[in-house]
Amino acid sequence: MNAEHFPPIPFLDHKAQQARLGSNLRARLDVVLAHGQFILGPEVTELENRLAAFCDASHCVTVSSGTDALQIALMAEGIGRGDAVFLPAFTYTATAEVPLLLGATPVFVDVDPHTFQIDLASLEARIDTVARNGILRPRAIIGVDLFGQPADWHGISNIAAREGLFTLDDCAQSFGASLGGQRLGSAADATATSFFPSKPLGAYGDGGALFTESAERAALYRSLRTHGEGTTRYEVMRIGMNGRLDTMQAAVLLAKLDVFEDEMARREQIATIYDAALADILEVPVRVPDSQSAWAVYSVLLPDTSLREAARSALQAAGIGNAVYYPRALHQQPAYEECHDGTHLPVAEELGNRILALPIHPDLTDAQAHRVAATLRAALGG
Ligand SMILES: *Cc1c(COP(=O)(O)O)cnc(C)c1O
Repeated sequence: MNAEHFPPIPFLDHKAQQARLGSNLRARLDVVLAHGQFILGPEVTELENRLAAFCDASHCVTVSSGTDALQIALMAEGIGRGDAVFLPAFTYTATAEVPLLLGATPVFVDVDPHTFQIDLASLEARIDTVARNGILRPRAIIGVDLFGQPADWHGISNIAAREGLFTLDDCAQSFGASLGGQRLGSAADATATSFFPSKPLGAYGDGGALFTESAERAALYRSLRTHGEGTTRYEVMRIGMNGRLDTMQAAVLLAKLDVFEDEMARREQIATIYDAALADILEVPVRVPDSQSAWAVYSVLLPDTSLREAARSALQAAGIGNAVYYPRALHQQPAYEECHDGTHLPVAEELGNRILALPIHPDLTDAQAHRVAATLRAALGG
């Protein structure tokens, strides 16, 4: 393939999206510039109402990032020193960083080799080990909806109910996805999402949100995101943080929410093109049963590391954006070595050697998707 004949295919394309959003985006920003309520302005409340309606959750509290959403959710439960928080080893570092920042201990769990979601048998075994050791107190499970697909929330909830554990859905990559016909947002005791620009619903900066069915939790989240304030402004009820979403980002998100369902439908079409063009030469994403993915990431599995590297080089040479999420499992990272008990988590340890993410942003054309697939096929000799 001769790269000069084709313009590059970016992994993400915020310029194309901006052009598609048109005057709606500018109009939204102009309103904020005119009213000047840059902190907790009316757009923040409007966005919270629309997000809650979108995923059919009772309460939405927007916050400054997905990481802060996770932190506020754990702070509200009083999780800290001596507490074990179970989470998948194959995820972004933020999932495990937050329990550690609060003094709790992340306990890493293996994942399913095909859907890459938390493995229930491993989860049960890890809870069992912690309970038997008697040093840490099992407190919470953070299930991650990885790459846009939901984790097995029925299974996780059953285990949590039996063990008396708090469930937190790290839905940073999967806002808009659904499980059993229900959008994510109420599958766990609390759901945290992110509006980091590369997430399915991305702002033009940092942002996040919490969803819950509990009015008490929602009130605590509102207090914690504003320095633990009480019902009046300078009443300090608890130690909180500066964790609010900017009004400007809320305005951006309101404009993007108008096209979000169309974008998800487009991502689904691209996934279908890749499936049809690639399924015979590599492992395409295996769908979680009874679910709809938000397609944050379309990751394929190559047979081995050398073929994955060959595929990467070919895409690179053709100007096609690609990424490896994640080259290393968290328990193998220097920052987490000390808090890991040494348990072998074979699937999480192997995935990083074979995984490869292809572009799946909503402005990708059919022709571009076919070119990505053709370049990959050529690299694999097929
Ligand atoms: C992006 C991400 C986060 C953190 O979200 P930020 O908004 O960047 O803080 C947390 N968990 C997962 C799984 C993520 O992908």
